Formats: sequence, C-alpha cells, structure tokens
Amino acid sequence: MTVTRFAPSPTGRLHLGHAYSALFAEAAAKEQGGDFLLRIEDIDATRCRAEFTEGIINDLSWLGIQWSAEVVCQSGRLDCYSAALEKLSNEGLLYPCFCTRRDIAMEIAAAGGAPHHQEEVVYPGICRRLPEELRLERMATGEAYALRLDSAKALERAGGLHWSDLVLGEQAVSMAKFGDVVLARKDIANSYHLAVCVDDAAQGVTLVTRGEDLLEVTHIHRLLQHLLDLPVPKWHHHRLLRDEEGRRLAKRQNGLTLSAIRESGTGAEEVRRELGF
Ligand code: GLU
Repeated sequence: MTVTRFAPSPTGRLHLGHAYSALFAEAAAKEQGGDFLLRIEDIDATRCRAEFTEGIINDLSWLGIQWSAEVVCQSGRLDCYSAALEKLSNEGLLYPCFCTRRDIAMEIAAAGGAPHHQEEVVYPGICRRLPEELRLERMATGEAYALRLDSAKALERAGGLHWSDLVLGEQAVSMAKFGDVVLARKDIANSYHLAVCVDDAAQGVTLVTRGEDLLEVTHIHRLLQHLLDLPVPKWHHHRLLRDEEGRRLAKRQNGLTLSAIRESGTGAEEVRRELGF
C-alpha cells in the first residue's frame, strides 16, 4: 500500500507552496488508495513554535486535507533518533567535530578555496584526522562538539547505492556535495536528516513526496537508510511554486500565507483548484 506524508517544520505559517506540497502528497496517496500522514518536524527548539504547529493543523484542515493517523511530532521521538545515532556511533561511523565556522573557513582558505556561500562548504575533515587521544581529551574537558558522519567510510561499507525518483529515475548515491554531514549539533541533539529517515521508516512511508529543493539531500537519506537498516521508499520530488518574478514562495512573504488568503475571503475550493487539485 502507498503511504505518503507531508512533513512541515513549524517555523512559520504555511504558504501556497506548502499547500501545493501537502495536496500533492495527499493526492499521491489517494490515487493508489493509500494513506496520507502528517508529521510535524519540530526538533529544532530554537526555531519551532507550538503556535505554528497549531497554525499548520488549522490551515490544512481548512484546505480539506485529511490525514489517516494521529499527527506525529518529532519533539516526542528524540529517544528514537538518539538510538539511531548510537547505532552509527557504535559502528565507528561518527566522529566529534569541535570546529567553529571560522575554523572551517580558515582551513578552506589555507587550502586555496574560496567558498561564496557557507551552506555550500564541504567540511575539510579537520576533526576526522584528530588523533583519538586528543579527541578524548577535548571531549573530557567539556568542549562543545557536533557529530559528523564519516561519509567516505560509510560509502565504502555501503558499496554502490541507488535511489529512485518517479520522474528522474534511478540515481547513484554521491556524497560529493555534502562530505561529512553533521548528524547532531551542539545545540540540537539530532539532525533533520536522521529524524526524517527514522520517522519515514517508523511510519511506513513508501513514497516520499516533497519539493525539488530537497532533491539533493536524498543522497544523504538513502545512505542513512542503508546504515540504519531501514526500508527504502521511493521519492517524487515535485516542482516548487514561484511568484511572478520567479522567486520561490518563502515563509516570509506574508501575503501568500494560507491564513492571509483565507482572511481575504478566498475559499479553500478556489485555492485547491488554483493549485490543480
Ligand atoms: N521538514 C522539512 C521542511 O519543512 C521537510 C522534510 C521532508 O519532506 O523530508 O522543509
């Protein structure tokens, strides 16, 4: 049976782009006589707020979207993510990283690189090369650290992995764009990547539908699924809605939030029709 989900983070009110994504996931489940689920991705306590979770549920209900099971909130499942992290750690696939952003930028500059955007920086592996004694010593002093996945080691163990998108077809897993991704941060015990993989498996999701902005991270997810012995879904990355100038609809464009649209007197039926559902 097909099981899809919509998994927003409650960091703001939903806009039309979210509505499209939720309707897309619901339609994909309905077409196959399957189930559609709603999951609230609220592990980042620094950015998520309960009032936005409430807003998401109200907005989706207004749109007429129905989910088949109780809403799952990631904030209630932190133990599951910690267990997954521990499994990876026990297998020697994680290492503590003490670097600050500045340390990383300096290392890259020293190597002659000139990254323009912080997000695109591939970690140069400084802490991967730390001798074990030094690692333990720094951890013992209480120095803050993140946990990174040793991607080369993980890929070597996994062998050639693939994932499949309904439109794009078969993709070979590559971590070249990500390097050693952070799976637990100093301020957030678990990453989005880890939580998403653990939850999609726990909820029996068979088809992950989401915007094409998340296409690339599927490489990370496929690798984690392998390392954690999780079932592998299929993916369908859909187009992103854009405004007249071609910009992605972002949460900060208040005029396009579903609540603003509703307040302006537009009906849910009209929104669904406009979006093609
Ligand atoms: N929580 C993520 C977001 O709001 C989406 C996660 C996913 O669909 O995999 O961007």
